[in-house]
Amino acid sequence: MLPVVSIVGRPNVGKSTIFNRLIGSRKAIVDDQYGVTRDRHYGQAFWNGREFNVIDTGGYQPDETDVIWDGVREQVHIAIRESDLILFVVDTEGGITSLDRSVARMLREEDTPVLLVANKADNEERAMNATEFYGLGFEELYPVSAINGRGTGDLLDKMVTLF
Ligand code: GDP
Ligand code: MG
Repeated sequence: MLPVVSIVGRPNVGKSTIFNRLIGSRKAIVDDQYGVTRDRHYGQAFWNGREFNVIDTGGYQPDETDVIWDGVREQVHIAIRESDLILFVVDTEGGITSLDRSVARMLREEDTPVLLVANKADNEERAMNATEFYGLGFEELYPVSAINGRGTGDLLDKMVTLF
């Protein structure tokens, strides 16, 4: 069995963009049996000779905050159960939100390893601003840009040491 890495976080932080960067040109498998709030995409990734499965969580289309929170919470529960590593993605453009704090609280109570990923750190200034996310209570922080690839090598280097 390959190690499983799940990508969680609130909508629009860039989970799917990170997922696509990790799996590259390989094809994702879509599992929509969960319905709109919980659809999941599975793909394979390789780094430094290590192969692993990546799960993009998401959907949460309905606009109501409660529905979105239920969807995210459900995905975090599943991720805690089935993952060897969780990427908790936040957005340097938007800053810390209450949903980020709720997810952080859920993840900190569990033993599954978590890496906090501050996405949309497209340049040095954005990467510096990402330090506010230390306020979520994780020891390490990985500022990345899923769009231009900044920081993703450092993140992957760390990921493959954890499984
Ligand atoms: P998800 O809802 O968490 O899966 O987020 P998406 O991957 O769909 O991305 C949401 C929006 O953020 C899209 O418009 C992306 O193009 C944009 N986005 C994703 N990653 C980055 C990034 O690294 N930098 C910038 N500037 N925008 C990004
Ligand atoms: Mg998505």
